[in-house]
Amino acid sequence: MRPVLAAPVLAAIAFWLVAAAPAGTGSYLRADDYRVASIGFRVATRAAALCPEPAPLSGAQLHHLADYEPKDQAGLVEDLGLDRGPGVLSVVGDSPAAEVGLSAGDVLLAINGLPLQLSPAESARLNKERPRGAREAIEARLLEQLRLGPADLHVLRAGREFKVRLAPRLGCPANVRLARSPEARAATVRGQIVLTTALLGDVADDDELAIIIGHELAHLVLRHAERLDEQGVPRGLLREFGVNAERVYRTEEEADRLALRLAWNAGYDAGAAIPLWRRLLAKYDGPSLFRTHPSLRARERLARQTIAELQAGSKRPEFREGPLRQR
Ligand SMILES: [Zn+2]
Repeated sequence: MRPVLAAPVLAAIAFWLVAAAPAGTGSYLRADDYRVASIGFRVATRAAALCPEPAPLSGAQLHHLADYEPKDQAGLVEDLGLDRGPGVLSVVGDSPAAEVGLSAGDVLLAINGLPLQLSPAESARLNKERPRGAREAIEARLLEQLRLGPADLHVLRAGREFKVRLAPRLGCPANVRLARSPEARAATVRGQIVLTTALLGDVADDDELAIIIGHELAHLVLRHAERLDEQGVPRGLLREFGVNAERVYRTEEEADRLALRLAWNAGYDAGAAIPLWRRLLAKYDGPSLFRTHPSLRARERLARQTIAELQAGSKRPEFREGPLRQR
């Protein structure tokens, strides 16, 4: 799942305006990354109270020069200065990053005086260790500083440098990202939720996307990977039989149930789960999936039951969509 630079990025950059944005305005270089990041941010921050260890979230999604193919890197250095530090790929509207005026296309030079630039050799070493290692190392450095409270960010924008003081918002520690891949998949990888562009193509609207993000976030909140590891359940292709399949199945049921609650909490339509499960299971369900995932009928029954519980309980929270612009 190697990300490639979409042609619209360069087109967007050509029309890049340097004018300061009104506080709270969201911005992006690629619309589909923004869509996934903004729903993820909304679901994660509204779920803060459910997470055993909430984390400071900024609402800025980063990209790194080493994330891209070598052929695209020279253009990104020239247009965005991406050799100076991690770049801002999108800023969710009404997030802490938007409120201090950060914008897609900015480059982060330092946090609390600590430089965020990696040498090309260091980036290459980290990415060799694991895919996207360079970006993840920088994200970890930022997270460490944001855990201390409001942080000073040194920012580069179109050749001009300035500082902002960012006060993060607490949420479930989940960064939701989009990977460019023809394989429809959603997974949690090292605390990050990764969805593929192919899966995005199967989703009818933001309510359905919120259910998918909620399902993956539920696996993180409920510590399913750790719990299955503690029980010694081997996971992966052709390994989930018998009692192990039963255990994995139960985690999927738990995730389905909590997913609806998380989507509902964030102001989305939990009822979107029913057409979503129908479509995905009709398209992708096969013998291997049947062993560990609830059947269509079971998933639908569970969804109807959870929706009834939600409707009988607290009032649906209000949500206001923030302003947005493309850079
Ligand atoms: Zn799952």
